[in-house]
Amino acid sequence: MRRRMTLPAGATIGIIGGGQLGRMLAMAAARLGYRTIVLEPQADCPAAATCNRHIEAAYDDAAALEELARACDVVTYEFENVPVEAARSLENAVPVFPPPAALDAAQDRLAEKDFLTAAGLATAPYRAVDSDGELAAALEAFCGNGVLKTRRLGYDGKGQRVFRNAGAADTEGVFADMGGVPLILEGFVAFEREISVIAARGQDGAILAYDPAENTHREGILRSSTVPAGIGPATANAAREAASAVLHALDYVGVIGVEFFVLGDGALIVNEIAPRVHNSGHWTEAACHVPQFEQHIRAIAGLPLGATARHSHCVMENLIGDEALAAPRLLEEPNLVLHLYGKAEARPGRKMGHFTRLKPKD
Ligand code: AMP
Repeated sequence: MRRRMTLPAGATIGIIGGGQLGRMLAMAAARLGYRTIVLEPQADCPAAATCNRHIEAAYDDAAALEELARACDVVTYEFENVPVEAARSLENAVPVFPPPAALDAAQDRLAEKDFLTAAGLATAPYRAVDSDGELAAALEAFCGNGVLKTRRLGYDGKGQRVFRNAGAADTEGVFADMGGVPLILEGFVAFEREISVIAARGQDGAILAYDPAENTHREGILRSSTVPAGIGPATANAAREAASAVLHALDYVGVIGVEFFVLGDGALIVNEIAPRVHNSGHWTEAACHVPQFEQHIRAIAGLPLGATARHSHCVMENLIGDEALAAPRLLEEPNLVLHLYGKAEARPGRKMGHFTRLKPKD
């Protein structure tokens, strides 16, 4: 077990990635007395407004990474597609949390499934697919039903295709259509609902998890997270334990999001892991004393983890595209907590903000 190295107030935290998650991490860090430096190529990124300094460079820019390592006491990241080599190069000079091994496990869906299986967790059946022929064979093994995904760089349902009652004839040209990149076919999971657990592991190995949230998606994008989820206590405990197993297996430090499919009998299938704060944990900012963002900063700064107890029931909804125009109306509701990301342009499909409606626990 690692000893806790507590960062003193005034120390500097590096954040790779300047989206809304980086923005909210920087706000949480400031509240605990830390400074932040964000590495992000986009000039007017959401985190630029809340960090102390913005290094405007590519995530794999060697000089920028050197500068980040020199100026920071610890470095973290807000998205899982940080180049692993960049994270490892930083590690020679400064602690990097979560450990870069978590990036290896999360960046490639095949490696992720192999990792989860080795950690004793159930996943959808899966096969690597690198040609139309391999797709036809895999579909046959899964009785014609499955979800074909790019192994890398897929998010919010991008780079996916669903097959139902499909045969070899349906696979012609698919590999090229998907970009000729390595793919994975997952067996179709007939789930009853989707849940996620946001959990944290401190530098001393302590683990705490928030209550599971029940999530809905539209066009592959998270729409809402409801807490409590419509699951029994045994399923909720099993989800927390699965998240703990992942954290232990990765010798993890920080917050992680683990997404599950729940079957009709309450059994759990892990869909994916996100080695970072997670959209389905935004409700913690409104319904818990210590939100996921502060929890992550506490963990990487070697501070004690905060209580994950919830004072209210709640529903978090994302504001996508011009839905954010509803903000003034939403603010008329007394039990609603709104968060906008300060993005100038409301492109369709772009996450502009979120809000959480609170309900007393009774
Ligand atoms: P992902 O990007 O892998 O999280 O997938 C996006 C969404 O597609 C999930 O939240 C599910 O609603 C659906 N999905 C993904 N994989 C499967 C699967 N193997 N079986 C059924 N539905 C899936």
